[in-house]
This record gives sequence, structure tokens and C-alpha cells, in this order.
Amino acid sequence: MATRVQGGTAPVAVEAVELIRVRLPLVAPFRTSFGTETRRDVLLVHVLAGDSEGWGECVAMQEPLYSSEYVDAAQRVITEHLLPRLLTGDTHKAVSAGAIASVLEPIKGHRMAKAALEAAWLDAELRRDGQSFAARLGAVRDRVPSGVSVGIMASIPDLLDAVSGYLDNGYMRIKLKIEPGWDVEPVRAVRERFGADLLLQVDANTAYTLDDAQHLARLDEFGLLLIEQPLPEEQILAHAKLAGQVRTPICLDESIVSALVAEEAIEMGACAIVNIKPGRVGGYLEAVRIHDVCAERSIPVWCGGMLETGVGRAANVALAALPNFTLPGDTSASDRYFAEDITPPFVLGADGCLPVPQGPGIGVEVLRDVVDSLATSTQLVRAGA
Ligand SMILES: [Mg+2]
Repeated sequence: MATRVQGGTAPVAVEAVELIRVRLPLVAPFRTSFGTETRRDVLLVHVLAGDSEGWGECVAMQEPLYSSEYVDAAQRVITEHLLPRLLTGDTHKAVSAGAIASVLEPIKGHRMAKAALEAAWLDAELRRDGQSFAARLGAVRDRVPSGVSVGIMASIPDLLDAVSGYLDNGYMRIKLKIEPGWDVEPVRAVRERFGADLLLQVDANTAYTLDDAQHLARLDEFGLLLIEQPLPEEQILAHAKLAGQVRTPICLDESIVSALVAEEAIEMGACAIVNIKPGRVGGYLEAVRIHDVCAERSIPVWCGGMLETGVGRAANVALAALPNFTLPGDTSASDRYFAEDITPPFVLGADGCLPVPQGPGIGVEVLRDVVDSLATSTQLVRAGA
């Protein structure tokens, strides 16, 4: 299956890369165990390649709270270490999207920065070839079920109001962010108010320790789909031990940074489900490899979210249409996060699904006038310089 994404489309001849920072206010503050986001400071990668172009979104946040990456550092590693390896001499004509990961492999980590470049290169190749992300990645659906991630709230009544609003919107699955002091009671309240049939899961973003196992086992009675990343990201073995003490399936997010780590975590018994985020793992092509590793081991996957604009959302929705994405993702509609997006908005259908873009590349138009109106800086890096 891996040849599907590594197959040799010819490289585009990249002339320059624009790095554009845009600032989008969130419609409401989003609080997790890591902190509170009130706006997204997004780095866009725009590849200019003769008669083609491509767009990629870097999901690194303003501060290194989700992982060690953050957006200023991502831009710096892109300009000082990654683009020089892609644009110097004749390499800008020779590197295909499928080869980017191996060209950049000597640079350790910085997966969100690498993923943004690979996505932009891939978009440019696919636009030139008239092929969609969905077709290239191996999508088997044209609509994907949409869930929503609900932040930590000031009170349980506030939480119930928020969940009620999302269910009225038509979301098919609710995920509650949890942390110590905000776990059993909010989950109980949501389960009691909205009933046993609600698809419900929780995400701790690494906020607990293995000593909390008996406390986390109190969530078992609520019939959750999964508990996501309860323990710190390096503690894969501890997740395997936790899995022996709770009945709720363990899902890993932050820990899974590559297909190799996914394989090892599954073999250790550390997770029964995997959240796939292309930025976290270095790109969409590695994301597909993780999908395949999980599929071969009967481990279901779903697509996480990093408060993406329409650029990242479009590609995520294409990824979420692959066959082993059998749980609803955090691929919410654009208006979950932004009043105004930089692409035409993704709108939740009456069936609780988002449409998978079918046009060339990411399949959505980037609204350049909106990008320019929200831009806080633009940097142009020319090939061969
Ligand atoms: Mg998560």
C-alpha cells in the first residue's frame, strides 16, 4: 500500500516559496490542559512553481505547549535549515513531494515544519497533474463524519450549553478536554444530560500520571469511545500498564510521532486506537503510513485537529476519507473556530459530515485577498539563492 503515496510523480520546478503569517481570532477561547488559545497565528507555506502553485499550513502553535514546536521556531527552521536543502543549486527542480521526508531526514524533529513544506509541494504537484489529495492518499469516501472537540469550561452548566449547541449543529461525536479536577463530573453530567447513545470521548493532553490509574478507571462506567493521551508523551510503556487497569480504550495522540513509534506502541499494548495528525508526524505521506500500520493490526484511527484553517482542514478531510478512519474525527466545520476563514468555509451537512474536496490538490481555493488582509508578515525565499 505504501507505494500508493511514494510513487513517482515528477517534481515541480519550484521558483520561490512564500512564508505568510496570518492571524485569525477564534470565535471562542479554546482551553485544554496545556493552556488557553484565543487566536491562531498560522504559518502558511506557498510554493510558486511556474504554472503551478501549492499551499501548506504549519500547525505549530504560538507557544511550545502541545509539543516542543512553536510557530516562530518553525519559520526559522524552515528558512535556515529546511528550504536550503530543497532550493539550493538544482535541487529545486529535482525533489518531488514523495522525496522531501528523506531529503530533510538529517534534520532532527521539527515535524510540523517539515509537514507544511511537504504538503505545499504535494499540492503543487497534484494541481499540475489535476489529481486531488483524496485520490493521491487513497480515499474511499466522499464525505467524512465530523466530531467536535469541546474545551475545558468555567462550569458544568457552561459545558452542557456548549455541548447542546454542537449537537444542535449536527456534530456526530463529542470530545471533552479533561484535566485533574475536570474529568469525572463533567463526563457524568454530559452522559446524564445527553444519554447513552451519544458518541463521547475524552482527551487529557498528557495531564495525568500512572498513579492516577484508579481515578481514571472511574471513567469506565460512562461508556466512552476512548481516553486520549492520558499520560506524558514519552511514557508509552506506562500507557500499556494503564491499559491493564482501565476498561476504556486508550488512544494515543502526542506519543505517536511516526509509523515506527505507532508500530512499537501497538505491539507494547499501549493503545487500542490512534489519533493521526499529519503535522505531528511530519506530513500526510507519513500519516498514510501510520494509517496502514494500524490497519494491518486492526487498530482503528481517526483524524485529529490543530485548529487548522481551510488549507489544513481540506487536506485533513481528504486523509480522513481513507478506509481505516472508522471513528469520527476532530474535522469540524470552519465556523467551529473562525468567523472568517482563508478558504471558502467547510460547512457541516445535515448528515453530520463534511464533503471531501475533489478538485486538484487540496481542492479548495485559497482566498488571497483574505490572506493578505490577515497577514502579519510575508517572507519570500527564492530558489537557487
Ligand atoms: Mg489530543
